[in-house]
Amino acid sequence: MKVLVTGAAGFIGMHTSERLLARGDEVVGLDNLNDYYDPRLKEDRLARLTPHPAFRFVKLDVADRAGMERLFAEEGFDRVIHLAAQAGVRYSLQNPHAYVDSNLVGFMNILEGCRHGKVGHLVYASSSSVYGGNTKMPFSEHDSVDHPVSLYAATKKANELMAHTYSHLYGLPTTGLRFFTVYGPWGRPDMALFLFTRAMLEGRPIDVFNHGRMRRDFTYIDDIVEGVLRTLDHVAEADAGFDADRPDPGRSNAPYRVFNIGNHDPVELMAFIEAIETAIGRKAEKNFLPLQDGDVPATYADTAELNAWTGFAPATPVSEGVARFVAWYRAYYGA
Ligand code: NAD
Repeated sequence: MKVLVTGAAGFIGMHTSERLLARGDEVVGLDNLNDYYDPRLKEDRLARLTPHPAFRFVKLDVADRAGMERLFAEEGFDRVIHLAAQAGVRYSLQNPHAYVDSNLVGFMNILEGCRHGKVGHLVYASSSSVYGGNTKMPFSEHDSVDHPVSLYAATKKANELMAHTYSHLYGLPTTGLRFFTVYGPWGRPDMALFLFTRAMLEGRPIDVFNHGRMRRDFTYIDDIVEGVLRTLDHVAEADAGFDADRPDPGRSNAPYRVFNIGNHDPVELMAFIEAIETAIGRKAEKNFLPLQDGDVPATYADTAELNAWTGFAPATPVSEGVARFVAWYRAYYGA
């Protein structure tokens, strides 16, 4: 299959592209290589993909309408995995326009490209943040998600709504995956595991929000990629029998779906920090701070739907995943 992976120089995009290439797919990786975080990390991730003969990189902004129209007109993609987005909850309070450009205008261009390019299946990144301050645990796809508490979350929810219209109007098979706090080697420098590891190895204190009383369904990158690929394949197979005259959004035989993809095993932030301390072999000095605006106190994925549909089951315990991250960090930064 020829697959467009947007955000290919990003954390999840690189790992996803690697797996697609390893199993024999052709990958066109797109990224604008923005400087939201250290561009060197993005270049080094890309350097792992570019030597592969079945990989081609396109530097493009998904918000560039003419560029995106040209790309889809010139290339025939069987599948699209759309991961490019302005990520980060806290940054969306400081820089809201970046989210509108990349996550809304960019998503629009993806939908139009998939529609006109007759793409067989669009799998895109949504987020656990759509659940806002939901206190009913675990989070189920059947819960109401009408109260996002950050602009980032609102753009992800908007993506799901926009995808629904394209599935409904044009029969474009779409699947949104609500990722729950993804971590692992080559992870994002703006996320807790990276920030904590760096500070601890440099002997600086770590900022612990909500006084450590946070719970997160930390999900290891390999499990996420496994879920993305299962979704891409399995759902697409089932779509062959899709009856366009009988749309039934969210159900098994419809081309519009949204699934949680998480570890189904939330961990207290303090326990997560302990796992990092164990992996590093040193105690952290902690600055306890209040909950940040836009953040939610807990996340917990009910993954029964994705499991029923694709057999997805997360396999990596946090202690193991954290140890793998710390080993990667030390090797990469020589720390
Ligand atoms: P990332 O920032 O590492 O990757 C995103 C990539 O997209 C980056 O390389 C960036 O340069 C690129 N990009 C951003 N805006 C772009 C634009 N306008 N045009 C082209 N490229 C652009 O983030 P990630 O952690 O790999 O996340 C991938 C996707 O998963 C994102 O959509 C994110 O919102 C979503 N997500 C991630 C997590 C997580 O825990 N990592 C959780 C929920 C949702």
